[in-house]
Amino acid sequence: MRYNMDEKIKKGGISVETEHIFPIIKKWLYSDKDIFLREIVSNACDAIAKYKMLASSGQAQAEENYAVNIGQVSDIPDDYKITVKADKEERTITVSDNGIGMTEEELDRYLCQIALSGALDFINKYEGEESRNNGIIGHFGLGFYSSFMVSDRVTVVTKSYTGAPAVKWECTDSGEYTLSPSDKETRGTDVIMHIADGEDEYLEDGKLKSILEQYCSFMPVEIYYEGEKKPEPEKKEGEEAKEPEAPKPINDTHPLWMKNPSDCTEEEYLEFYRKVFHDYREPLFHIHINADYPLNFRGILYFPKITNEYESLEGQVKLYYNQVFVADNIKEVIPEFLLMLRGVIDCPELPLNVSRSYLQNSGYVAKMSQHIVKKVADKLNSLFTTERENYEKLWQDIKIFVEYGSLREKKFYDRVKDSVIYQLTGGRYVTLDEYLEGAKEKHENTVYYATDKMAQAQYISMLEGEGIDVMYLDKGLDNQFISMIEQERNVKFLRVDSGVADALRGDGEKFESKALADLFVKVSGNDKLKVTFENLKDGTLPAMLTVSEQDRRFGEMMRLYGMQNDGMPAPEGELVLNSGSDMIKRLAAKAESGDESAADSAGYIYRLALLAQRKLSAEELKDFLRGSFAMLDKLV
Ligand code: ADP
Repeated sequence: MRYNMDEKIKKGGISVETEHIFPIIKKWLYSDKDIFLREIVSNACDAIAKYKMLASSGQAQAEENYAVNIGQVSDIPDDYKITVKADKEERTITVSDNGIGMTEEELDRYLCQIALSGALDFINKYEGEESRNNGIIGHFGLGFYSSFMVSDRVTVVTKSYTGAPAVKWECTDSGEYTLSPSDKETRGTDVIMHIADGEDEYLEDGKLKSILEQYCSFMPVEIYYEGEKKPEPEKKEGEEAKEPEAPKPINDTHPLWMKNPSDCTEEEYLEFYRKVFHDYREPLFHIHINADYPLNFRGILYFPKITNEYESLEGQVKLYYNQVFVADNIKEVIPEFLLMLRGVIDCPELPLNVSRSYLQNSGYVAKMSQHIVKKVADKLNSLFTTERENYEKLWQDIKIFVEYGSLREKKFYDRVKDSVIYQLTGGRYVTLDEYLEGAKEKHENTVYYATDKMAQAQYISMLEGEGIDVMYLDKGLDNQFISMIEQERNVKFLRVDSGVADALRGDGEKFESKALADLFVKVSGNDKLKVTFENLKDGTLPAMLTVSEQDRRFGEMMRLYGMQNDGMPAPEGELVLNSGSDMIKRLAAKAESGDESAADSAGYIYRLALLAQRKLSAEELKDFLRGSFAMLDKLV
């Protein structure tokens, strides 16, 4: 019998416009065509799940009767399976299951009416929506009819568990279908997709396997793939005929995330990570989430080891819906600052056939995201308290996430703040509280830090000489991070060269010499140079350059936001002359008396101060060497 989809549907009382459905399906989400296989295979999974339910509930009786009726032995539980078969000659892909099956009446209802109207609703809703190419949309909802993205004809042969006669339904991509009896004897459904011209790639083993791997790797029913027949390996003489290997399912029906965390071993987590992410470096650590009511999702998240900075945002969190792969990198579910995580999230609660904008505004998703943040923070805190040594080893790798996360989300900072640690220039790690505890007497609430151990060595050793610890903050985000900490806590971060620390001041009498200050301005060649006098404890040091913390940070920020380019000079800072130094005293006397030799010495001291702070320019270096040789000449 021939029907036209339109008439049939109208007969069924559902008024939908079907004339455009097939052309639209054909064009639908061109880049996402691959999902047809997931839709058909997950329908097969559902059909098996439904049958299992019936078999395990009171309805099992029906199954037994059925078995008796058709002389079939009762199912053994692990016999449930799905087969995906490709036949290049016939140009077909067949997905077979031994699930619940359909009667003729069900087939008409589910495939001709419900599925079709579902597909139509979906298209009506999202057609023309700009975002339809961007991920989740198109991932769900098209269901059965997505098979027409690659087929010009689809045949369904099915036999219901009730023992009703088997039927064959065949539908073309113009919407015409035929229904006829079938001689299928076993329970279940075969969906035979006749691959359209131009879609030949879908008949290739490689293509099908990769789709199955991406979308079906963790589906809950065993899936077997039967592709091209491999030629029998030639048998060597005397060799015994090998037992053909038992076929293996392509999927893992009990993925690790479904297990109880206490039943999983480290080795299993590692193996899972390798398998899913094809990354053979060990992740730093993992978090197994098992959220119950009111949230309902599971997942495993890994902190990957990042070896270069460009990689840092390349995380990958795969979203699953009851073990069916949905999408990669769901930005709406994972807080942005954790996007570098890798892992899987399985959430049966998300209505996934909705748009990203729904996800963005969903209260449920927001709660999920909060829960993930909490779990990550809990994990960091537990590593900190129970495995501090190990935590310190990981710190350089996780620091950027913690800092970035803290900057992005106050709640995250509040959760992890006690587990934030800082490295000292000597390599040891301390928390801020530990640092301040040691600072109590000498420099209460001031944190000294260095950003470059070489360039700032002189300043570091001066402070360390006074028994002051110096933090080593050399990475990109430290600047913003410490500004935030300053707001959160009553502390001030000062770079070692930002001024003269109180602890370095001596208490001898202080003198100032305008003539000497002017001389230094002159020899520096920078008439904006600010010269001050301070009495330093260390009398051997004649002068040092300082740059105010505020000016420097401001300059760095401008550069960071591209408002000032690197070519522009860093803030010049201030030259501090040590009035506790005898050399400076003598030099001041010379300057006051107009002794011409004072200029050479002042120039030399100035360059030494520059040298202690940063690299000299080529011109400065030349002058410095010339001066040094001249001095040596006098000495030798
Ligand atoms: P969905 O799976 O979202 O309900 P589909 O369009 O994929 O929508 O399928 C429509 C309906 O057709 C299913 O709900 C199911 O009742 C029926 N169906 C599809 N495939 C099978 C199958 N392999 N075995 C039994 N029933 C099926």
